[in-house]
Amino acid sequence: MDSFLNAVRSLAEIRISGLLAAVITFATLSPNALAQLMAGAAKTEITDRQAGPVNDPSYAKALVLRDGATTAVIVTVDAVAIGGIGRIGDTFLANVRRQLAADPGVAPHNVIVNASHCHSIVRMDTEALTVQTIRAAWRALAPARAGGGEGWEERISENRRLAMKDGSEVDMRRAYALAGDEEVAAVGPIDPQIGILRIDRADGRPLAVLYNFACHPIMNPPRMGNSADFPGFASKVVEDSLGGGAIAFFVQGCAGDINPVRYKTVMHPPSAEALGNLLGLAVLRACRQIETKPGAMLRVASDDVALPRATDFARRLAALEAEQARLVEGLKPTDINFKTFLPLFVQHKLSPDFPSYYAQGYLHDRALGREDLAQLDATNRESLEAYLHNIATMERLTRLNTNAALLRMHQAQTVAAGRPTVDTELTGIRIGDFTLVTFPGELTVTIGLGIKKRAPLPHTFVAGCTNGYLYYLPTAPQRANLGFAQEDCDCLVAPEWQPLFEARVDALLRELAAP
Ligand SMILES: [Zn+2]
Repeated sequence: MDSFLNAVRSLAEIRISGLLAAVITFATLSPNALAQLMAGAAKTEITDRQAGPVNDPSYAKALVLRDGATTAVIVTVDAVAIGGIGRIGDTFLANVRRQLAADPGVAPHNVIVNASHCHSIVRMDTEALTVQTIRAAWRALAPARAGGGEGWEERISENRRLAMKDGSEVDMRRAYALAGDEEVAAVGPIDPQIGILRIDRADGRPLAVLYNFACHPIMNPPRMGNSADFPGFASKVVEDSLGGGAIAFFVQGCAGDINPVRYKTVMHPPSAEALGNLLGLAVLRACRQIETKPGAMLRVASDDVALPRATDFARRLAALEAEQARLVEGLKPTDINFKTFLPLFVQHKLSPDFPSYYAQGYLHDRALGREDLAQLDATNRESLEAYLHNIATMERLTRLNTNAALLRMHQAQTVAAGRPTVDTELTGIRIGDFTLVTFPGELTVTIGLGIKKRAPLPHTFVAGCTNGYLYYLPTAPQRANLGFAQEDCDCLVAPEWQPLFEARVDALLRELAAP
């Protein structure tokens, strides 16, 4: 009897309320349902081809999973976010869930939608296309086998926050210059792990591969045209290689502070395709090691969490503005401009001892007891140093100006919200030996690494940018950064969010791991 109850519990859908009380809802079960996992997958192109040149297509993809008691829907969208920013509106998730609750009848919290966070421009009717895609996947439900595992790809990502020698942190964006090489003390970690769920048809042919990886899909600059960036290419490699209509689902991980590798290069054209090919091949390599089994457990849990909103915008802005004022005050007088700076700089680098003329001219002066050239060089060296100092100041100011605008935007949003908290939805899903926990914001990488390390089950992974968009979620120490970077300025929450969030995620994962 106990084993039957355990089996029933394993099929139950868990919805956890704010106090973490698990409310287990029991569905009507047939004994056959216990052993049967059904899966269906579909995809639809959502590229807005009217919005300008297209480099590569964007898709909405749906994976429907059902075991007789529970239905879960995992949707991936090649878009920047689910609400908040970009083309997908704030009502998207609620509308999709409402339509699926009506037909075919899926519990709203069992619909999980992840944005890859690529910057493609999707069609205005992406919501309707997404619902159609999910219903197509539902119609394709067929007996399936599932298995979880891990891959590894360390060549395509880099941490975008740099630890500076003065204790501050600076991030890398195309919106501003990187810090000077001599100021950089250390770089942060990446997460090279690829979390993989492999779904096969009953006869063993691949049906779907869901892969979770942490990296901003921003390698292709906008001038290359509309693009799903590296995840689009990675999924294409997987789908082309598996054949038979198998669909690859990229699920964005904790990429808040993770960029594509060599993101700041200006010496050759950036290529998302090269990175995507590497990732896709790593996924295929790992897939071959994963054994799928029939009768995989399917369990979904969710938890509504209210995170504290930041209350220190005014203080942080005042500190940032004070730094701007200090930098402006420190600009040095110099009698050169860029036209005269550049040749002088080259000459002084090329020939530090004789920058203004040939050596013989200096020797000739010296023989006559004159120092004309040497004195000119000393004056020019001072001008060059002042001009370089001013350039470095300009680079710092561009970073501060951009991040000040983010702080002011979130300050205004917080005032308009008029509430001390922001509502978020954690969702967890377990499919056999694969577990995924999701969150609406851009979690930074150490948060994801920590969750995975503490997770009670192997093959547990973390997705950001899911079921909504809450901007960046830096760690408490990152949030306190005096250097001001996007992750700590493009952020709605107070530093206290982190322990609160982590406790709730850990509890959710314990629920999913319960026998
Ligand atoms: Zn981002």
